[in-house]
Amino acid sequence: MTTMICNTCGQKAVIRMRQHRLALCKDHYLEWIIDQTQRFIEKYDMFNRREQVLVAVSGGKDSLALWDVLWRLSYPTAGMYIHLGIARETEYSDLSEQYAREFAAERGLPLHIVNVEEEFGQTIPELAQVSRRGRSKPCAVCGLVKRHTMNRTARELGFDVLATAHNLDDEAAFLFGNVLGWNIRQLRRQAPYLPEKDGFARKVKPFCRFTERETAAYALLRGIEYIEDECPHAVGSKQIEYKNLLNQLEEAQPGAKLRFMLGFLQAREDGFFPLEEIVEEDLDLQPCPSCGQPTTTGGLCSLCRLLENARAG
Ligand code: SF4
Ligand SMILES: [Zn+2]
Ligand SMILES: [Zn+2]
Repeated sequence: MTTMICNTCGQKAVIRMRQHRLALCKDHYLEWIIDQTQRFIEKYDMFNRREQVLVAVSGGKDSLALWDVLWRLSYPTAGMYIHLGIARETEYSDLSEQYAREFAAERGLPLHIVNVEEEFGQTIPELAQVSRRGRSKPCAVCGLVKRHTMNRTARELGFDVLATAHNLDDEAAFLFGNVLGWNIRQLRRQAPYLPEKDGFARKVKPFCRFTERETAAYALLRGIEYIEDECPHAVGSKQIEYKNLLNQLEEAQPGAKLRFMLGFLQAREDGFFPLEEIVEEDLDLQPCPSCGQPTTTGGLCSLCRLLENARAG
């Protein structure tokens, strides 16, 4: 077997990225991730150094890697961790909170913690039980609570922008699902950057062009400690099926995932699924009479309705 050589310095490489035809040693890889992130931030005009960035952290590799990179790039950041109350037996939520806390403490960074059970009276799996959607998986309720909480926290604490660590695998799988069902509404909302609008915070995804393998390698090589277990509810999800399919394709055609995503963003620039139309659609947003968050329902927002059902038992 031939030794991989770093394309920058000629030393032994630790990672090869076939889709970029690039192999790098540890130091140059860490540097590459940081430089590329800065490039994406500028390319999609996500935020500048005077803006306050709230980073949604789960205790997993992607979000802690993202926070680490933004911190090293000297952006003013704070983290937000949402304790979902998942898997008491394996302490999934407790452990992931601990990783987020330790990460923040080591770097002297502020971390805002929202505990769903304390905030809403019930954990995510409990709320999912009362959801009228009647799904067995709590993911729909979880997504709703996370979106609501992240948006509210960002607005209430005066952050300019909310950053999430969605990577290329997440985005390509989401895109694949949306294309499979021609979910035009979702396609119009999928972007590395969503502007602030009517009570919704600006949202950005600075890692959306890195694969999961690349963010994992960053976390590992940087020595970041993170929760390795996946949320137990992720098992068997459609997203994971799509990821597996796309990984097979990537294996046969290196760069397929990136081409799929970038082709979509280019199609948008060419006039397909224009982001602007969200603005038109959302003109009838009203503040929810209970929590004040924007909603199209004309009454309680979906989360407040869910909580009302939960209280009614
Ligand atoms: S897998 Fe489902 S329940 Fe678990 S964190 Fe993700 S959305 Fe929430
Ligand atoms: Zn090197
Ligand atoms: Zn509400």
